[in-house]
Amino acid sequence: MNRILLLPGDGIGPEVTREARRVLEAAAGRFDLKLEFEEGLIGGAAIDAEGTPLSDAVVETARQCRAVLMGAVGGPKWDALGVDVRPEKGLLRIRKELGLFANLRPARMVPALVGASSLKPEVVAGLDLLVVRELTGGIYFGEPRGRSEVAGRRSACNTMVYDEDEIVRISKVAFESARKRRGEVTHVHKANVLDVSQLWVEVVEEVAKEYSDVTLSHQLVDSMAMLLLRDPQRFDVIVTGNLFGDILSDEAAELTGSLGMLPSASLGEGGVGLYEPVHGSAPDIAGEDKANPLAAILSVAMLFEHSLDAVAAAAAVQDAVAAALAEGHRTGDLVGDTGVTPVGCREMGDIVLAKLSES
Ligand code: NAD
Repeated sequence: MNRILLLPGDGIGPEVTREARRVLEAAAGRFDLKLEFEEGLIGGAAIDAEGTPLSDAVVETARQCRAVLMGAVGGPKWDALGVDVRPEKGLLRIRKELGLFANLRPARMVPALVGASSLKPEVVAGLDLLVVRELTGGIYFGEPRGRSEVAGRRSACNTMVYDEDEIVRISKVAFESARKRRGEVTHVHKANVLDVSQLWVEVVEEVAKEYSDVTLSHQLVDSMAMLLLRDPQRFDVIVTGNLFGDILSDEAAELTGSLGMLPSASLGEGGVGLYEPVHGSAPDIAGEDKANPLAAILSVAMLFEHSLDAVAAAAAVQDAVAAALAEGHRTGDLVGDTGVTPVGCREMGDIVLAKLSES
């Protein structure tokens, strides 16, 4: 029995997670996989009900599960709270508690959506890259951190720190992923300025020796930001630290046209994987049945692949999404100036389910 913890969260989180669960159950049924669901609170919903963005009890349940399927957290209601009790803290905590050090974010251009990108079709057609971001170290967690006041002047600091073991394990995830793809890894850094980046270059080079079938190159983060806009098709797997990965994966996401299309997986050594759409809680459309559930549904495909070792089920979900889009169905975020009448979140879920049962 495979236990799955659902953490729908806030805003459109519950709407997209509901559709993702329906697809998860249907695909599992087809491929004879037994699932058992738990449900918990995270983010603003947890703050309201339990006074904390993620309770110890939910962390404990997560540890007992094969995978966690999350929606999104946050919203204006909780924006005024201090950094330590905000909804996003729940997200950082669950990643840390489950030891989820590797965040995988594929950005793939679906042929039917080439026109939805803000870049020219010839720049983005065929785009298929994977950002592998280190998730539990670096400047988001480094010590010392915090604010102080010296002689009446406010000051604040964060620390970017990595040890070699952290770099080795994330590099291995990138090289292993590249082996299943086009066999190219681009390491992104700022080694012309940062000591921590110099260590990354050194260690990634050492790991590369174990993967002679994979080509490694290095790219400065500033020029990478530019190259992603100019020539994104040339990249296969991009590996980088927490801060650079946070920024570049959003940039890569935008290339594909909509945040509503992008799934992610966070993996670690503990065996529990966390799957979630890249987008946030979209308070501007929450509760209106306008959200695009495809990022959440594609996260289900990643869950099948990485946590349940069910590659055929993963492919079936991806094919069902591609078939729904190829037939012209679009949620509001994908409509652009096509003149197509958008379908709602629920209806898009129904369409994907229908395609899944036809395949
Ligand atoms: P957002 O991703 O929620 O929304 C950005 C824009 O994209 C909005 O116009 C929204 O309507 C649209 N959008 C996003 N997902 C969509 C979907 N599935 N279908 C259709 N349209 C979609 O980012 P934001 O507005 O910067 O943040 C809103 C809240 O979400 C904030 O509280 C932020 O902290 C939080 N957030 C959470 C996560 C997470 O849970 N992983 C990630 C990013 C932001």
